Amino acid sequence: MPATESAALPWETFTMPEPIPLRDTHHRPLRDLRISVTDRCNFRCVYCMPKEKFGFDHPFLPHNQVLTFEEITRLARIFVSHGVQKIRLTGGEPLVRRDLPVLVGMLSQIPNLDLTMTTNASLLARSARALKDAGLKRVSISLDSLDDAVFKAMNDVDFPVAKVLEGMEAAQKVGLEPIKVNMVVKRGLNESSILPMARFFREKGYILRFIEYMDVGSTNGWRMDDVVSAREIVNIINAELPLEPLDPNYKGEVAERWRYKDGSGEIGVIASVTQPFCRDCNRARLSAEGKLYTCLFAIKGYDLKSMLRAGASDEEISQTIAHLWSRRSDRYSELRSENTINLPKVEMSHIGG
Ligand code: SAM
Ligand code: SF4
Ligand code: SF4
Repeated sequence: MPATESAALPWETFTMPEPIPLRDTHHRPLRDLRISVTDRCNFRCVYCMPKEKFGFDHPFLPHNQVLTFEEITRLARIFVSHGVQKIRLTGGEPLVRRDLPVLVGMLSQIPNLDLTMTTNASLLARSARALKDAGLKRVSISLDSLDDAVFKAMNDVDFPVAKVLEGMEAAQKVGLEPIKVNMVVKRGLNESSILPMARFFREKGYILRFIEYMDVGSTNGWRMDDVVSAREIVNIINAELPLEPLDPNYKGEVAERWRYKDGSGEIGVIASVTQPFCRDCNRARLSAEGKLYTCLFAIKGYDLKSMLRAGASDEEISQTIAHLWSRRSDRYSELRSENTINLPKVEMSHIGG
């Protein structure tokens, strides 16, 4: 057999080199993108959108200032080309955005993407099937108590626990799993709900993650005294249901993992205040109006929507993202102090958690 028949030709063995991954000034890659699809919400959680600041006359974004599904998808593809592997849809409440499954369908066409959503689940029962069919992989559901009085005091719109559980069940039924449940703990409001929540979700087999109350935005009147630390939370549970630490699933995982010693499941604690994890932070955030934020506590975002609407090419937008990420030096939580608390910051409902 002539040598040429078996020997591979140079271009046959050549594989496209992987794009050089972006790194910021602390050598952190860009892996995770949170996309806020709306700044509106049907809840008024006291730690996120307090009623006094987000009243009926609040100037939410006009619809023409919110990114269209096509614009979001175009940006998402560019982010993926820079190494993003996971996209989380968030808000505001993502399910108040009309036709969200259409966006999910568009994003799910992007290969090798882990597509998830964080929601208060108030509207999930009616859209779980459509979201799953459109390609959503799983959901994280926020729920701060199983006690109606406590939950209503936290969501501040009189929303009952049972409706959230209904949404959760619908998600489970259609296979939007594994379901994670997020509980923000604020001192004086819901510490008494920590154990009942742990027991309930251990029984159900869902991973419950406790989130330390954070000083996001400048409307929630945050005080360090209101933070129930991850350590305190673990101690409360451990006293009744013994726990042992677990290794992280992957580098950069924000939740510290613990498992019940009897093997009945695990919990997570997100200690962004008392044990910051900026060192491995690989997340970018795209606001509903198309601004790129490289930190949850950023003062300013970069206006990608204007570039899109001025006719910039994918290449130009891609270079801008690369430029912004390569100059990123954010590590707010590591630098948090009395002096940083009152700095102006973007609201959580604008860029999602
Ligand atoms: N509306 C959806 C929801 O509540 O799941 C998605 C957006 S919400 C801003 C995303 C997450 O941020 C929720 O789990 C919420 O509990 C959390 N969050 C909001 N404000 C917070 C704060 N001040 N400290 C800690 N977590 C907060
Ligand atoms: Fe709405 Fe979520 Fe903020 Fe609560 S935490 S007000 S549900 S955006
Ligand atoms: Fe990432 Fe900023 Fe949070 Fe640090 S403070 S973990 S850099 S989002």
